[in-house]
Amino acid sequence: MIPESEAREHVLARSPALPVVAAPLTGALGLVLARDVVAAEDVPPFANSAVDGYAVRAADVAEAPVELEVVDEVAAGAASSVTLARGQAVRIMTGAPMPEGADASVMVEDTERLDGGARVRIGRSVTSGTAVRTPGDDVRAGTTVFTAGTVVTPAVAGVLASIGVSEVHAVRRARVAVLSTGDELVADGSPLRPGQIRESNLTMLRGALADAGCDVLDLGVVRDDEEALARVLTSAAATADAVVTSGGVSMGDYDVVKAVLSRIADMRWMQIAIKPAKPFAFGLLPGPGDRPVPVLGLPGNPVSSLVSFELFARPALRRMMGHARLDRPVVAAVADEPLRRRPDGKTHYVRVVGAFGDDGRYHVRSAGGQGSHQLAATATATALAVLPDGDGVEASGPVRALLLSVV
Ligand code: AMP
Ligand code: MG
Repeated sequence: MIPESEAREHVLARSPALPVVAAPLTGALGLVLARDVVAAEDVPPFANSAVDGYAVRAADVAEAPVELEVVDEVAAGAASSVTLARGQAVRIMTGAPMPEGADASVMVEDTERLDGGARVRIGRSVTSGTAVRTPGDDVRAGTTVFTAGTVVTPAVAGVLASIGVSEVHAVRRARVAVLSTGDELVADGSPLRPGQIRESNLTMLRGALADAGCDVLDLGVVRDDEEALARVLTSAAATADAVVTSGGVSMGDYDVVKAVLSRIADMRWMQIAIKPAKPFAFGLLPGPGDRPVPVLGLPGNPVSSLVSFELFARPALRRMMGHARLDRPVVAAVADEPLRRRPDGKTHYVRVVGAFGDDGRYHVRSAGGQGSHQLAATATATALAVLPDGDGVEASGPVRALLLSVV
């Protein structure tokens, strides 16, 4: 067995970043920017009112309450042609440009409409600049808004839209081929014959890949047949940036993934000192122009497959997509019940259900059955409790938890 860190370093060292592409902003969510973005425009582009109310000269309302003559009305998207003179106000809506001469807005709640709107009583004094958004006070033209490495979140995309950017230079989304192997697997809903089970890993891994921001190329269930598998893997390497397989990487007689990949790829077969997900394979398939295409061989047991994806595949794919942060957060948690185990030289990843308590700490309990086939219990887990080799943790004891989901 090798330590998890060794396996991880082996994988990451062979998962280089993908090329940079020009991507339309509409399709850039989750991508990592490859260049700094410098704003070409001020946001906001002009001085505008932060409230619905009246644009005034602050000096006119210093002795509020006062009455002013209403000389115009201006909505967002319009512009007033008047220049405010002493004693005058303009009815103004949020986002509308400030008229010439006005230097403050008074919110409508502090005013009273008079004479059918011809006049207004201003109930409160304001200072110059009140409720006025000045040009560039969100983003100033010429400044670097985002540096290379920034992840395009919804808010980042919003800012890019606000400065008129419609295309970004970003690391390409990984196109990942995924397949499942096993003669026992039924994926078409037909009745199970003796010895058959329903396919689940492919469905799960498709989701995990999509969650990780990859484009998924679904290669389906491949029979335990060396020729068929070799064909599928070779064609996958011709079109995909990485290949993820499930099953057939352990010690069984029908572990055809092992047989085929040993033949057509440069592989390392690993037994990692973790539970679940001890067997794992990583290698490089020859791609177009002999560009190496990483292939990640995940174990077939569904829980092992998922844990293996989390610990090795997801960080590798994130590295390929240019992310600096490869891992999910690990927090110092509290075990609300004993999480027992026996010494066996491995780190155990126990599936737990956790929540942040009123004490601000993350509290965990076992998610149920911890067998590597018990995906149903795992599906309820929100975290993996990391139990180092030993006897586990007592109730109320400290435990590290790798957060799979935080709502
Ligand atoms: P293997 O790694 O191929 O030896 O498979 C280990 C265990 O996981 C066996 O019990 C398989 O039936 C099961 N298994 C493998 N692939 C899948 C899959 N795609 N969906 C559900 N179970 C699977
Ligand atoms: Mg199998």
